[in-house]
Amino acid sequence: MTHSAAPCPRLSTRKDGLELSRIVAGMWRMNEWDMPVAARVDFIERCLEMGVTSFDHADIYGNYSVEGLFGEALRASPGLRARMEIVSKCGIKLVSTARPAHSIQHYDTSAAHIVASCEESLRQLGTDYLDLLLIHRPDPLMDFDEVAEAFTRLQREGKVRHVGVSNFTRHQFESLNRRVPLATNQVEFSPLYTGPMFDETFDGLQDLGIAPMVWSPLGGGRLFTSNDAQAIALRDVVKEVAGRTGQSFASVVFAWIMALPSRPLPITGSGRIDAVADAVAATGFALERSDWFAILRAARGHEVA
Ligand code: NAP
Repeated sequence: MTHSAAPCPRLSTRKDGLELSRIVAGMWRMNEWDMPVAARVDFIERCLEMGVTSFDHADIYGNYSVEGLFGEALRASPGLRARMEIVSKCGIKLVSTARPAHSIQHYDTSAAHIVASCEESLRQLGTDYLDLLLIHRPDPLMDFDEVAEAFTRLQREGKVRHVGVSNFTRHQFESLNRRVPLATNQVEFSPLYTGPMFDETFDGLQDLGIAPMVWSPLGGGRLFTSNDAQAIALRDVVKEVAGRTGQSFASVVFAWIMALPSRPLPITGSGRIDAVADAVAATGFALERSDWFAILRAARGHEVA
C-alpha cells in the first residue's frame, strides 16, 4: 500500500482552541501490538512524519498499562513530546490488579479523582502536561459544577491545556460546556454505528462550531470481519465505491466520516502504519454525494424518505 504524499491536515476543534491533526492515532490497543520500545518509537515517528501528531489515550487502556508503554517511548526519544498532542481520559475505575482498591467497576467524576487520575497519567506518560483531558463516560453521579472546577484548576496549574468529554449526550455536553469551554465530545461513529448523526450529537456540536472526535471508525474492525447480513451488504457497497474511485476500502470509510459538516476527527485503532496512512489518504479526496448516500443506505438497510 502506498502512503499518501500529502501530510495530514490540522484542525482547530473550536475557534481559537485546540489544534489537532485531522487523523488522530488511537492507542487503546497498543498493549496488543507487542512492540518493543524501539518499534513504539518508530511507529510514533512514522505517524509524526505523516502529520498525525495527535495521540489518543485513557488511563485505563491496556488495563492501565498503555500510558506507561507510550511514556517509555517518549523517554527513549525525548524530542518526540514537543512534536505531538497527547489526549487522555479519566473517570472510569476498573477492577484490576493494577488498582487493588477498586472493588466494583464504576465511574468517578469527583474533583479529587479527576485531579489524581490526571496527575497519574502525567507520571505514566513522563510529561508535564496533557494537551486535552476528557471525562471518559457520563457519570450518573456527575456534578457539572464540580467537574468544571476540577478542569479549571488543572488548566490553571498548567497540567492540562484543554478539556473535553467523551460519550456525552448533546444535553450533557452543553450543560458542562456552559461552565467550562469544552474542546470536543469523543463519540463512537462509523457506518456500523450511525447514532450521533441522528440523536443531535453532531448537529449540536456543529451549531457550536466544535468538532467531535470519532472512535471505532471502522467498527472496531467489524466492518472487515462481521458476517452479519447488513455488514456484508455494506462491505459490498464500500468495496464497489473503493474499486471505482481507486481508493482503499478503509480510506472510503474515513472519507465518508469526514464528509460530515461537524468536521469529525477520526481516531485510528491499528498498530500498522499502512492503516494510519489509509486514514490520512482520506483527507485528500471527497466522495460524490451519491456514493455517500449509497453507503448510508447500505448502513441503515433502507433508502432515505
Ligand atoms: P477501528 O479503526 O474501528 O478498529 C481498529 C481495529 O480494526 C483493529 O483491531 C484493526 O486491526 C482492525 N483493522 C483496521 N484496518 C483493518 C483492515 N484493513 N483489515 C482488517 N482489520 C482492520 O478503531 P478502534 O481501535 O475500535 O478505536 C480507535 C481508537 O478510538 C482507540 O485506539 C481509542 O483511542 C479510541 N476509543 C475511544 C473510546 C471512548 O470511549 N472514548 C472507546 C473505544 C476506542 P489491525 O491492528 O490488525 O489493523
